[in-house]
Amino acid sequence: MKIIPIACLEDNYAYLLVCEQTNDAVIVDPSEAAPVQNVIDKECVTLKAIWNTHHHWDHTNGNQKLYDCYPRLTVAGHVSDSKRIPLINQCLDNNDTLSVGKEIVATVLHTPGHTLGAVSYYLEKDRALFTGDTLFGAGCGRLFEGTPAMLHQSLMTLSQLPPETNVYCGHEYTYNNLKFAAVIDPTNTMIQQRSKSLEKQPCSIPFSIKIEQQTNPFLRTTSHSVVDTVCRQFTLSNPHPVDVFAALRKWKDTYA
Ligand code: FE
Ligand code: ZN
Repeated sequence: MKIIPIACLEDNYAYLLVCEQTNDAVIVDPSEAAPVQNVIDKECVTLKAIWNTHHHWDHTNGNQKLYDCYPRLTVAGHVSDSKRIPLINQCLDNNDTLSVGKEIVATVLHTPGHTLGAVSYYLEKDRALFTGDTLFGAGCGRLFEGTPAMLHQSLMTLSQLPPETNVYCGHEYTYNNLKFAAVIDPTNTMIQQRSKSLEKQPCSIPFSIKIEQQTNPFLRTTSHSVVDTVCRQFTLSNPHPVDVFAALRKWKDTYA
């Protein structure tokens, strides 16, 4: 199985997954059709399915054009988005299994918070995880529809996957997210190292669950230094991890 990141729009990523035995392919989150179509043509693969992580325009806008080109396409998304994802014809729920060709097998993880129908696609055999706008490099999505408790739980689920899992997220925000992370967790040298490595090579994709556990403040809501910073900023004492998470999310929403 091969994974090809495709830069779309300003800072979005779509991902083409290719079964190398059959040349069947899946596209995750086609925010626009043209760049995806170019890669499909270049690779000479047969597009079989669209897997959307959530209903937002910048993850689904290519659905219609691709469907027009490939009328037997499967279009998958969470069941609660059955009226919001364009052309959806396969409704998913937590723990469903998807497969395309002989090599592409994914488990659906319902990870609500950014939106209520947000899902992540976990390919255990290939150690790959597609998180849409739930988990970003050193950050997480905004709370548009869910509660802090929901998104915190979703992120805990993802952070408990094997540390060597490679994460492919929906946007390239990692470098900027690390600036916020450094404010929250100022003594964490891993944050500085990660930031430095991106100065030479700005594409952060993929990154591991392990480096997220080490540097993402939204996953580190029980770490002493993160809790200390949040307590000082919001004058809290002994906050629950969900309260730490909620405070961080609120702070990040208005952080320059
Ligand atoms: Fe989104
Ligand atoms: Zn997005």
